[in-house]
Order: sequence, then C-alpha cells, then structure tokens
Amino acid sequence: MKSAYRFLFAATLALFAAAAPAAEPSTDAAAEFARIVAPDVRLVKLAGGMRFIEGPAWLDGGLVFSDIPANELRRWTATGGLATYRRPSGNANGNTVDRAGRLITCEHSGRRVAIREADGTLRTLANRHDGRRFNSPNDVVVKSDGTIWFTDPSYGLAANEVREQPGNHVYRLDPETGTTTIVARDFDMPNGLCFSPDERWLYISDSGRPRHVRVFAVQAGGTLAAGREFCRIEAGVPDGLRCDAMGRLYVTAADGIHVFRPDGTLLGKIAVPETTANLCFGGREGKTLFITASTSLYSIELQVAGTSALKNHSVLQRRLAKL
Ligand code: MG
Repeated sequence: MKSAYRFLFAATLALFAAAAPAAEPSTDAAAEFARIVAPDVRLVKLAGGMRFIEGPAWLDGGLVFSDIPANELRRWTATGGLATYRRPSGNANGNTVDRAGRLITCEHSGRRVAIREADGTLRTLANRHDGRRFNSPNDVVVKSDGTIWFTDPSYGLAANEVREQPGNHVYRLDPETGTTTIVARDFDMPNGLCFSPDERWLYISDSGRPRHVRVFAVQAGGTLAAGREFCRIEAGVPDGLRCDAMGRLYVTAADGIHVFRPDGTLLGKIAVPETTANLCFGGREGKTLFITASTSLYSIELQVAGTSALKNHSVLQRRLAKL
C-alpha cells in the first residue's frame, strides 16, 4: 500500500511537471475562446494582391512584413496603407523587433540575419556557423537578455546555391560577440518560434515531415532541455507562432489560426480564407492580431494583448512577478 501511495505521489508530481507552463483555470475551451475572440468580431482584409507574405512585426506604429518572392519588405499603416520598406530585401522572411526597437530580419537569398540600426543602416548579425553559410534563415525571436534565436531550414536555398550546413538547425546568436550556437539539431524543417511570456519555454514549429510544434524548457545558460510534442497540425503545416500575454499559443495553419491553452488544449480556430504563414500582435494596445496569409494581409481585434506588445511594459513585469 505504501508503495502504491508513493507511486501516486510521484505520478501526481510528474503530471504537474508536464502541465507547465502555468495553465489557467477555465470552464471550458469554447468559453475561453469567446473571451479571446468576441463572437461578433470580424476578420478584416487589409491588403491583397501580393505574392507570398510572411514575417509580420509591429514597429513604430505600423506593421512591417515580407513579401518573400517579391524580394521586398513592406510596411502597412492604418492611415497610409501599404508602402515599400526595403527593396531588395534579400528575399526576407521572418522579422522581429529587439529591445532597442530595431528590426531584425531573416533573409533567404541573403542567407543571413540582419539588423536595421536606428539610423537606417543595415548590418549583418550572422551569416555563418562554423565557417559555413546558413541555409536560408526563416524566423527569429529575441529573448529579453538580448540573445537572438532563429531557425534555418532549407526552403529558401535556390537550386543553384550550394548547401553548406550539414543540417537544418535552430540557433542562438549572441549579438555582442556574433557567436552562434546550435540549440536544436533534430528538426526536419524548423520554422516559427516563440517564447512563453516568462521565457521558461520555447515553442518551435516543424513544418517538415512532423507537422507539429514542440515545446522546450529553456535552461540557464541558453540551452534547451529535450522537447516534447505540444500540438500537431493536420490542416497544412504549422509555420509562424505567437503567444498572448497569458501564454496561450497561436499557430498558423492552412485553415486559419489555431489557439491553444498552455497545457496543449485546443481552444478554437480563427478562420482565414487563405493559408496562413505567420502572425503578430500589434496596434495601439497590442490587441490587434495581424495575419500574413499567402497573398493577403488580414487583421482581427482580440480581447487580449500579445506577449511582444507587453514585453517592455511594467504590466507584464507585475504579472510575471505574481507567477
Ligand atoms: Mg516561417
């Protein structure tokens, strides 16, 4: 009997360990989803007629994003509509904003991660690992310690380009030294990535054969513990990822955005008429979800803000202090 209790105790502990990051109490998935996406809110098409758009990032009151085959970075604002932000873009894909408000961009044909300095100049942060050029950096995220984490699948390697890396890895880049370190090497096609609000967890999608998202515990020193499958996407493949301020994960798929509770429960889907590739929170309060979906840019007003929108705000710091 004693050993049975011991087993139960151990099993309960294991369950709690597996349930991280902090799941929040909720009556049921549909009710929680309705608190995120109000039943009467509508998806808005902001612009169309582009080729294949990706990499949305909210920057200085507007949305910067990539049209990969058009070799162009574009910027959308509510007042001015669409404008060219940078062309050629090195066939830019993923974008993010660092703590100093600078745009960081993954370039396919540039085979690099670049940063746009405050004065507008463009600088290469990294284009090689171990002396070999990257495949085609895809997506990127910045941790609050300033390190830059990015994926390097081979989607953007042109037929006439030589592959130099032995695999499709996930890297951590120290922007002070330019040093890159492989943090995950067992992906088929690593793609979108996103930290939980408390940065204890890193989600990474694999849009290759597994078509799933894995979650990894972020260790001190910037390494990852062994990952586990967080969710599997049956409609197309998972690509871009974002967390909201409560740690829910938003995953792009062929039929729209799938929204998951941190414990992996699917709460609901935001239907989008085109295959979605990436998303980000923005707008004045950080509650506008922008979605790059094949040829068109969409937005929807949510009732929750994204992690990135709050990252530099005391609101998030206070919330995290209570965890
Ligand atoms: Mg991507």
